[in-house]
Amino acid sequence: MATVGHNTGHFDVEKVRADFPILDEPLPSGQRLTYIDNAATTQKPSAVLEASDGYYRHANANVHRAIHTLSQRATQQYEATRDRIAAFVNAASRDDVVFTKGTTDGINLVAQSFVRPRLAEGDEIVLTEVEHHSNIVPWQLIAEATGAQIVVVPVGDDGSIDAADFESRLGPRTKFAAFAHIANAIGTRLPVEAMIEAAHKRDVPVLIDGAQAIAHQPVDLQALSPEFYVFSGHKVFGPTGVGALIGKADYLQAASPYQGGGDMIDTVSFAGTTYNDVPYKFEAGTPNIAGVAALGAAIDYTNKLDLTAVAAHEHELLKSATAAIEEMDGLHIIGTTPDKAGIISMVMDDVHAHDIGTLLDESGIAIRTGHHCAMPLMARFGVSATARASFAAYNNQADVDALIKGLHSIQRIFG
Ligand code: PLP
Repeated sequence: MATVGHNTGHFDVEKVRADFPILDEPLPSGQRLTYIDNAATTQKPSAVLEASDGYYRHANANVHRAIHTLSQRATQQYEATRDRIAAFVNAASRDDVVFTKGTTDGINLVAQSFVRPRLAEGDEIVLTEVEHHSNIVPWQLIAEATGAQIVVVPVGDDGSIDAADFESRLGPRTKFAAFAHIANAIGTRLPVEAMIEAAHKRDVPVLIDGAQAIAHQPVDLQALSPEFYVFSGHKVFGPTGVGALIGKADYLQAASPYQGGGDMIDTVSFAGTTYNDVPYKFEAGTPNIAGVAALGAAIDYTNKLDLTAVAAHEHELLKSATAAIEEMDGLHIIGTTPDKAGIISMVMDDVHAHDIGTLLDESGIAIRTGHHCAMPLMARFGVSATARASFAAYNNQADVDALIKGLHSIQRIFG
């Protein structure tokens, strides 16, 4: 792996790009790839590809079960990732880290295992209007089953969520609150510190959906102190199908098992079963061992990048792209809070977002178009779809220039 070495204060984006083989691979058309769909998923550095391959080549066995060499090797790789994640997000303990399939799985786990058994008819769960469907539908499912209500904090015209408004919606029936660290569709950084503090004043436990934050800014869970934090591996340069839930020990201990099966038990008999300790209580069945091993490599890689430097770099790209887009007639950005993350959601007068996506793709530019799994947010802004560009550590000014050139040419085509 190329040396990343960005803790020097100088962020060398070309060095970062060299770690990602796909960025160097010409498209079938021979064009350079401009990959700016990072809110959907991130590309993988060689270290992650090698870790996945290396597990299957040299350590393929199940974890926690056999005493043979390969099983010990697999277990060591699997458990080492737990240590790395705990250190990466400054969790209180490695035992607070539960492996999941990703953000969606983590939210469903918390909803079913911790929140649902504590809900009665008329209780309330507070969400915000900027949430991804993954942080809406699991709560609707348990609300439907129990007669609880969903309370929604509305988004402002600029895409902001107001912490005081959030606080005003917490009442005697509020049993839980869940909200994004960064809104995937429009890039808003939510005032999570103030929101968590307001919730804790009323003894309301909180889940933070960290899917869009984990690769873009440092996360310190002991400082933030949410009861639960979730993220997906594939959004942080790791593989798909794996992620983590980090919970406070007493909350994880109080939650019921999510799924039953191997590894999550202590003893089993037909008279009754006792469960393994946290976090294993929530890891039923053979896990995604290769995915976890590769996620460990992704966390190591991201750690070396220095997320403070990454955030500053992405902010420069955002500023540059935003200034150019604002100069264009007929192009409008949804989500304009000053401290937003590197995500630009756009609508163009008289041009459907899908046409923008298709035409940009013809120039080798990958963006996302559609509702971004945030239909309530789209409805709030009166659109069915937007065109979204989202930056990561490996994007450079050439990517921004390609986007702007592509948008100009679309405007010329549509007159
Ligand atoms: N939450 C947010 C804010 C997201 O951006 C995403 C994915 O785009 C998810 C949840 C769902 O993540 P996953 O599909 O990896 O479970």
